[in-house]
Amino acid sequence: MSDVEAEVAGNLAAVRARIAAAAAEAERDPDEVTLIAVGKVQPVERVEAALAAGQRVFGENRVQEAQGKWPALRARYPDVELHLIGPLQSNKTREAVALFDVIQTVDRPKLAAELAKEMARQGRRPDCYVQVNTGEEPQKAGVLPADADAFIETCRVEHGLPLVGLMCIPPADEDPTLHFALLRELAKRHGLTRLSMGMSGDYEDAVRLGATHVRVGTAIFGARHYE
Ligand SMILES: *Cc1c(COP(=O)(O)O)cnc(C)c1O
Repeated sequence: MSDVEAEVAGNLAAVRARIAAAAAEAERDPDEVTLIAVGKVQPVERVEAALAAGQRVFGENRVQEAQGKWPALRARYPDVELHLIGPLQSNKTREAVALFDVIQTVDRPKLAAELAKEMARQGRRPDCYVQVNTGEEPQKAGVLPADADAFIETCRVEHGLPLVGLMCIPPADEDPTLHFALLRELAKRHGLTRLSMGMSGDYEDAVRLGATHVRVGTAIFGARHYE
């Protein structure tokens, strides 16, 4: 095993152990929580190390980066499940529907309409989440909480999207637990069973508050080095 393989495998085991402990504290079954490894910007060697350690669920936040990386890896690991967790432009829906198993960032009517059209065209129906901008931050994607009820109904009724859950990214400088609780209540109200919340700094809080999917990058792969 190379140094990188050992490091990534060790980090994965540590994160899994902390997820299990947080689930136990909340009297939840740890198997209810899926760890999404976020390999964006990381050298492909690190992503391959995670695959070698048995990790199969991954998140990417850019369609183009994912297109450059995953087709080749998937040929070797066909059971990979790929989640889009970054903003999606309406003109990239074709590529996104073709590549991803789950699209977590549905957040506006035009995008919902384009996704529905592409799904019909391709005969592929990736699970969808609505992203909620729980902190109402102007620079952040996601539907505002006040508009969420109507938007969720639009996705389901008007566009027939396979909507399964909600996703949020709390403001960096706020207590995330209030945001996680808000997301959970909203999901419950709509009978949505999946909650994508929690990142490297707060995934244990998210698990305690009901996350079914946590998106963890740095704690698995180390710091990202942007060019
Ligand atoms: C990058 C990213 C993550 C992972 O963040 P870390 O803090 O490195 O764990 C999670 N969710 C989204 C939407 C991201 O863009």
